[in-house]
Amino acid sequence: MDEIDIRSNLENVYTNIKKAAERAGRDPGNVTLIAVSKTKPVSMIEECIDAGTYVFGENKAQEMASKITSIDNNSIKWHFIGHLQRNKVKYVVGNACMIHSVDSIRLAEAISAEAVKKDVICDILIEVNIANEDTKFGVKKEDAYALIKDIAGLSNIRIRGLMTIAPYVDNTEDNRIHFKNLRNLLVDINNKNIDNVYMDVLSMGMTGDYEVAVEEGATMVRVGTGIFGNRIYV
Ligand SMILES: *Cc1c(COP(=O)(O)O)cnc(C)c1O
Repeated sequence: MDEIDIRSNLENVYTNIKKAAERAGRDPGNVTLIAVSKTKPVSMIEECIDAGTYVFGENKAQEMASKITSIDNNSIKWHFIGHLQRNKVKYVVGNACMIHSVDSIRLAEAISAEAVKKDVICDILIEVNIANEDTKFGVKKEDAYALIKDIAGLSNIRIRGLMTIAPYVDNTEDNRIHFKNLRNLLVDINNKNIDNVYMDVLSMGMTGDYEVAVEEGATMVRVGTGIFGNRIYV
């Protein structure tokens, strides 16, 4: 098996983000790369840190908590990007700087209660199933506004924006419309001026399609394979 060169993979991804932002007339400084380290060992996370990358994404509550314990570096920002069950909220609130995957009022209530208990403010994104796929989590586009209005009233939660996982496609151009739609949804909801809600984060784009996502306004891209190589699930 080929050795994975994390440092040069990172450089590559940063360069691609910069070029995509420039193509769209955007400031590359407004795009945060989240290195998705799920299933990958702490040693690989440390390689990223050596290369100057401190923002990581994990999708399993206990895996994230245990990595935080073993690395113990206050400069790291951990983003929780996976489907979250209410009974796992305690592992994530206070550990993650942002939860990307809130798609129900019941989950938001559990996050709020845990945040109150720990006396922290929890930043969240609303996950939207933008292409309306049967297999995906996330709220339907047409239900996002109502959900956000409900969540806006909860204590110790700050809604920062929207997240989506675009369909798996052979031609990444096919996802452009979905990224455009997510951005338009963000603009529409902001225009409705919900009390306490102003959203500016758009978390969209993965290894296969982050350049298109940046062209369409992503402020956070979540890249795993493009940095760490393929994941092996056992
Ligand atoms: C695994 C994962 C990613 C990264 O996927 P890659 O295709 O490996 O870049 C991004 N977002 C979410 C929510 C994920 O679960």
